[in-house]
Amino acid sequence: MMDKSAAELISITKSYGQSIAVDDITLRIPGTSYTCLLGPSGCGKSSTLRMIAGHETVTRGDILLGGKNITDLPPAGRGTAMMFQNYALFPHLSVADNVAFSLKMKGVEKSARHVEAMKLLELVDMVGFAARLPAQLSGGQQQRVALARALITNPSILLLDEPLSALDPFLRLRMRSELKRLQRELGISFIHVTHSQDEALSLADQVIVMNKGRIEQVGSAQDVFNKPQTQFVAQFMGGHNVMRDGQSYLAIRADKVQISKTSSKDGAGLSAVVREIEYLGTTFSVGLDEADATQASSPISVTISDALFSQEPLEIGQTVFLNWKPGDTHRLAS
Ligand code: ADP
Ligand code: MG
Repeated sequence: MMDKSAAELISITKSYGQSIAVDDITLRIPGTSYTCLLGPSGCGKSSTLRMIAGHETVTRGDILLGGKNITDLPPAGRGTAMMFQNYALFPHLSVADNVAFSLKMKGVEKSARHVEAMKLLELVDMVGFAARLPAQLSGGQQQRVALARALITNPSILLLDEPLSALDPFLRLRMRSELKRLQRELGISFIHVTHSQDEALSLADQVIVMNKGRIEQVGSAQDVFNKPQTQFVAQFMGGHNVMRDGQSYLAIRADKVQISKTSSKDGAGLSAVVREIEYLGTTFSVGLDEADATQASSPISVTISDALFSQEPLEIGQTVFLNWKPGDTHRLAS
């Protein structure tokens, strides 16, 4: 039998008037998986998610969930649930009533609703807050309540639109692992929209990199980071430099470029000027401009370990030579 939490988008397009927000996307979401839709602001992530949720009509194409065509079903009839960016909790309802809300709409009787709501609050570690109002909770706690409220409908797929962006960095990391744990425990699929590369890499079984309404690349976190297929993915994922090589382009990871202060005997090495030095804790990130701007398609970034940098510190304005092993480069398709 087909996994209920497997989904397929078949040639999905979303237009708002004349403008195309999502342009003919085809995509498989495996069952019981964590998928991240990753891309810059405006690339069509939320529109895609809202079409899956049924909060936005599909201009063209089909959406299947568990093998069933759900394209024209109302949101509550799809087996999906959505957690919104701003949590959208009802301010006048207690935490327990917020969580139980969709069961009330379904006509589930009060004591049964309450039992279910408490189970979900237990899952997100919020049992002690059941009687409070949303305004009496921190941002992180409100988010847990929003999660419980989405999950009480027992969805096959949970849709999350930038769920961590309103949290401070410490809470964000904590909630990140919490989301992953929940997805595993529940055995359903999560589709999580984010513009943060770190978030997608750390969470996703499958990363979908989007740009201008289209899919640039689909793959595991390691694939999209280590084997970007396009200049856009190499540059957007960060940690890569894109170099011209005749008519095509090569990507080379920032931590695979060596900096030396003198050119090698055979004169190999790209001459560059240090423009920027940033300390990142365990590494230094060095920004450089190619001296005669023929090879690099943008400023060059090199990552050096803290220890190595300390042995031979660099200075802004210094001219250096960059080398890398041919085997560490990766040819881009476009
Ligand atoms: P993302 O979530 O990746 O930032 P969106 O899906 O929100 O992107 O938006 C994609 C494009 O569609 C943007 O150009 C945006 O301005 C446009 N858009 C989104 N929602 C609407 C809407 N309701 N009406 C008109 N244009 C919209
Ligand atoms: Mg969005």
